[in-house]
Amino acid sequence: MTFRDIQGHERPIRWLQTAVANHHLGHAYLFHGDEGIGKRLVALAFSKFLYCEQPIEGPRPDACGVCRSCHQVEQGTHPDFLLIRAEDEQKQSPKIKIDQIRSLEHFVIYRPLVGLHKICLIDQADTMTVEAANALLKTLEDPPDHCVFFLTSSRPEHMLATIRSRCMTIRFSPLSLVDTMNFLCRHTTLNQEDASLVAAYSEGRLGKALHITPEDLRIQLRQYWTLLFGNVSQSPSTIMDLCEDLVKADHVSEAISWFRLGIRELLLVHLNSAHRSPLFPDQSLALLHLAETIALPDLLDLLHDLERLERGQQRHLNIQIGLEQFFFRLQHALGARTLQET
Ligand SMILES: [Zn+2]
Repeated sequence: MTFRDIQGHERPIRWLQTAVANHHLGHAYLFHGDEGIGKRLVALAFSKFLYCEQPIEGPRPDACGVCRSCHQVEQGTHPDFLLIRAEDEQKQSPKIKIDQIRSLEHFVIYRPLVGLHKICLIDQADTMTVEAANALLKTLEDPPDHCVFFLTSSRPEHMLATIRSRCMTIRFSPLSLVDTMNFLCRHTTLNQEDASLVAAYSEGRLGKALHITPEDLRIQLRQYWTLLFGNVSQSPSTIMDLCEDLVKADHVSEAISWFRLGIRELLLVHLNSAHRSPLFPDQSLALLHLAETIALPDLLDLLHDLERLERGQQRHLNIQIGLEQFFFRLQHALGARTLQET
């Protein structure tokens, strides 16, 4: 992965290249933005660029991608490069632990072996335990001159403010629908129609786009559409059971994502927007009917609920209760309105 392989993110890349050209490279950077958006890839491409033995010069400087150093960064074997990421012992909440930061402390003491810098890439830095974060803070307070730290996070608000304040923060934005489609058409075997579906589903996050097939996407779409709007007249106990099933099957994140896409689409239909998603062509009639039934403030509340749930899920709030409340609110929004009209 080099800069030229990365779709979008021109501004952060240009910023880093300029810092190197002007000899103003900082000691610590925090890349923040949605999950799966490409923060780690940019950090890796930049590490290659710094170590590359035959860098490409010109208006768009880049790593060659083929020299020994480039290969070593790619494979994680470069002697001056350390990648730290959450250990996946517990599937629900992998953490970066104090032992990993201790090994980082040891790694940064010595001068680089082959390059000018030692680079530590801490992926999903918000997953550090309190002990790990405090230990890292000590290193960041007095970093050795030869060190560059890259921290990535989709939830920077969960990091110590004292760590954030010691980093230059660079925000990563989602790709546009067109950029995502172009990437998928160029780098995968997807046809135009499937690329358009996957791009819409991914909402500009390539990590998400590359982890779903169009077949799975269509299955999920039908499944979650039915779950979202097919339970409007179910009893509270049925709603509670289905929420419990989602939690037990570890499908909460997937479900919330689909529910948000569905409610958002309903909002677009309600507003008669021209920016409809290509995800729901078969649901057009149902959407029109639903849009006539539901009031705009209710739709906005529902979207807000789902966004809150997405954030809450990451903080391990009681997600099942949150999901149940969302369904009850949806029932109420659809039912109450229908009653008023009849
Ligand atoms: Zn190279």
